[in-house]
Amino acid sequence: MKKKIKTCSRCILTSTIPNVNIMEDGLCSECHGYFSNKKNKDGYDIKLYTTRMKKIFSEVKRKKQKYDILVGFSGGKDSAYLLYLLKNKYKLRPLAVSIIHPLVNKTSLINMELVAEKIDFNLIKFFVNSTLYKKYIKEGLTEANKINLGPHSACRLCNYFKDTVLNNLAETMGIPLLSYGTDSAQFPKPMILQGIEKKEFYKYHIKPLNQIFNKIFGNKYKNTLYDINEKQFCKKNSPIIIYPFTFLKEYTPEKALNMLKKIGIERDKMNPEKTNCDAIHLFNYLSYKKYSCHSQIFTYANAIRKISYNNQAKGKKAKRKIANYFAAYEKLLYYLIKKNGQKTIKDKETKKIFKIFPKFKKMKYKNLILMIEGISKIKYYSKYFNIKL
Ligand SMILES: [Zn+2]
Repeated sequence: MKKKIKTCSRCILTSTIPNVNIMEDGLCSECHGYFSNKKNKDGYDIKLYTTRMKKIFSEVKRKKQKYDILVGFSGGKDSAYLLYLLKNKYKLRPLAVSIIHPLVNKTSLINMELVAEKIDFNLIKFFVNSTLYKKYIKEGLTEANKINLGPHSACRLCNYFKDTVLNNLAETMGIPLLSYGTDSAQFPKPMILQGIEKKEFYKYHIKPLNQIFNKIFGNKYKNTLYDINEKQFCKKNSPIIIYPFTFLKEYTPEKALNMLKKIGIERDKMNPEKTNCDAIHLFNYLSYKKYSCHSQIFTYANAIRKISYNNQAKGKKAKRKIANYFAAYEKLLYYLIKKNGQKTIKDKETKKIFKIFPKFKKMKYKNLILMIEGISKIKYYSKYFNIKL
């Protein structure tokens, strides 16, 4: 018998997600943690982090090295804006490194070069071997399910390459800082990681993935850039990791887009799935199957929580909107999979989908088509990874 799914009364997290408990008052455990921390209107003392970051920057600059900071660069607007700020506002010497795995699409690859050229920073592309990547994602998902890693298992497995390679690379090259354009929707807490903070990050974000990696590959990649144990990751003089957009007030997604526009790069504002991962719909589908929710539910829940902190009514509205979107998306996902994931969707078909799923009516026609095309790739990627649907 199916157990009744409980949903948090503030955000949208459900009782089907590992480590999420819905308490008697209707709030989930994540909301409890967030709303009990009332240091300022954002729930955290973000000023403190900004000051700390600036201090770290000026110390590093004094050393006059070839590169002050290594930046994980996805080609997206946020990491581009981060590089722009580090270079022009904070006067640091950044080195950008892009982790290229098989799911990074061609458009992103071209964008990376274009942005590097326009903002004028050095860029290194690191290619993850595709056989290694495929094996890690496929077998890793099975292992992740065994330990209930959660709805975003696939993204976490994929991020493992970024976390290990970039930290190892910065250390090998003697670059004292490492930075990412991740924002507070993905990481709700302000994050500057050194010492004990790095230890905690390792425990939650890297350790389970490293264990899965070792289980799959044994000693094959020991002592390569793919391998990192706690001691290495946390040792003295290992790079300090900074996520400026988890606390910098001057960051908003609009500002990032405007900066790109100013240097002559136009980006589509509205990407409904907010990612350039080509296999995201497959990962969403697997998450619905295992946890009855969207793979990025934590990111959406964080956003709702943030809105709700300042204005409960607005938070409720945002929750309703996202819950409606998820419900419609899930239906569309199963509908299209049943249709056998046909490659091209005819105009007529899209119109029919608009009728069957009126919830999408507010979405731009072009975006719905993009979404349908994306979902139709599930068949291809399930074959690619050899994952049964
Ligand atoms: Zn909640």
